[in-house]
Amino acid sequence: METILDLRNICRTYQQGTSVLEVFSNATLSIKGGEVVALVGPSGAGKSSLLHIAGLLEAPDSGTIIINNKDYAAEKDAARTSARRDLIGFIYQFHHLLPELSALENVSIPQMIAGKSKAKANERSIYLLQRLGLDHRLTHRPAELSGGEQQRVAIARSLANKPKLLLADEPTGNLDPETADLVYGELLGLVRLEGIAALIATHNPELARRMDRTVLMQGGQLVPA
Ligand code: ADP
Repeated sequence: METILDLRNICRTYQQGTSVLEVFSNATLSIKGGEVVALVGPSGAGKSSLLHIAGLLEAPDSGTIIINNKDYAAEKDAARTSARRDLIGFIYQFHHLLPELSALENVSIPQMIAGKSKAKANERSIYLLQRLGLDHRLTHRPAELSGGEQQRVAIARSLANKPKLLLADEPTGNLDPETADLVYGELLGLVRLEGIAALIATHNPELARRMDRTVLMQGGQLVPA
């Protein structure tokens, strides 16, 4: 499988009042298609910042961000926006589903924004929601779903446009351990099936062990764990 995400020598600082906080100084990481990497480290280590940089939501101070063989570090907003839409899927700790839309619509809308017909979009949405065990919940709105079901819809939405790269920040952090374990299994199965490169921040060592490898954010760098 080819390399999908290639982060090289990423440096990120934040201005905090009059001082400068260096979150990481030299973070380097590459992930191939079909590979699932756990990102671990204590709270405040910079996991979310790294995910935001890899997801082209924030720019680093310096470094190279290659996604699918293109360097986005110096790209303009328009190119970054279309890469986010076409190449990258996100899952957050909270589902961020649109409350007035059904599960099916929440998964289909991003595909229609990317240019698919409603029929084609629904076909993909139903496939994903079925794989996640939600075929009997297609017309339910988020408020009518359990926490685990809401997060499954968010997973389906993140994969809707067949991203090359999936970025997830504690995707099961709000779920009870048993549900988290089930949802993780389903997520990993789909990511591997579709050959996606995934970077998943988690606090849970058991969940991290189920991924292909773990990188630890430590001392401003990423080290194998
Ligand atoms: P993690 O996800 O590992 O908990 P974060 O990436 O959220 O860590 O944060 C890393 C560090 O950067 C923390 O010390 C945090 O306070 C700081 N930080 C994050 N975002 C900002 C910001 N917008 N402005 C200033 N400091 C920030």
